Amino acid sequence: MRFHIISVISIFTFPTFATPATSKPALWQLQYPICPGPPGVYIVAPSAGKGLGVFAAHDLEIGDIVMRETPVIKIVPPKVAKGRPYPMSIVSKLVREEFEALSPDAQEEVLSLTYHASSAEKTNTDALGIIFRTNAYNTGDKVGLFPKIARINHACRPNTSYYWSEKLNKRIVYATRKIKAGEEFFVSYISLLLTQEERQKQLDRYGFTCHCEACTQEREAQQASDNRRTIIKKAFANFEPQLILEPPRSSKAKEQARKNAKASVQLAELVQEEGLADYYAKAYRIAAISHARVEDWQPAAIWANRGYELRYMEDPQSPNTLELYQLTSTFISNWESELRSRFST
Ligand SMILES: [Zn+2]
Repeated sequence: MRFHIISVISIFTFPTFATPATSKPALWQLQYPICPGPPGVYIVAPSAGKGLGVFAAHDLEIGDIVMRETPVIKIVPPKVAKGRPYPMSIVSKLVREEFEALSPDAQEEVLSLTYHASSAEKTNTDALGIIFRTNAYNTGDKVGLFPKIARINHACRPNTSYYWSEKLNKRIVYATRKIKAGEEFFVSYISLLLTQEERQKQLDRYGFTCHCEACTQEREAQQASDNRRTIIKKAFANFEPQLILEPPRSSKAKEQARKNAKASVQLAELVQEEGLADYYAKAYRIAAISHARVEDWQPAAIWANRGYELRYMEDPQSPNTLELYQLTSTFISNWESELRSRFST
């Protein structure tokens, strides 16, 4: 699950730029001289209906880094009850203090970001605070603004994901599927385990209607996609309390564990079918543990290893990665013991 919080995400409607008529810009259009970015990885250019977007300058493989960016502004958010928005007067004050210390170029970059505000907010709230609210991301226990990453548009079946590295003090965006030169990069600003209608409700507060490929499917395909996302969300919640390594004791618990192992494979397939790359590692971990509980070590080891590979790509040092490394090692050694005992009898 992402680290997004209620009021802190990005939108990028950039009405001051004319948008091209086609949804995919031609290669010559990618030479648009706005922000060249690090050589060879990405180009910022107009994106149909979205103002600006970030496009691949060459083909990328799964796991390739799109951007690494240090926050230009990082604040400790005021304490609020869960689900409540931050008081904007306090946020604005904290952001303004940080902003004043930036170089003129950095200030200009921050002010060039787009934002979404109600008409009341426009008259009585510091625009800088609203720019921050619209574009910033949860960053460890702080909230940070990353002006380059903020240019990446949203999609409900995105082709990139990101994580925060406390050690590097950077947010890192990487490809979660193969991306061709000229394709636009997308991330998700919201939880994706929601129906199209629920997703749009979440996105309303960022001031745009989502026209991504997942949101503009034919009615029947849309319904199927909604069903898959609803089932995946429920399955994740149902599996959660059952993800313990201790083997089941009673015959009833054993029977349930066998059913779970089967269902865990269906879940992994469903997440793949819906193309939700952000959730692959989570589903693979469930499949790994579910097979370990019935001591079916070969699939347990294979699923754990698949999850580990994805987590490693995301962040080699994260607790999730280390856990899957441990699980993979344990399951492989159990699988080896099983093979040894089978061949020695
Ligand atoms: Zn969408």
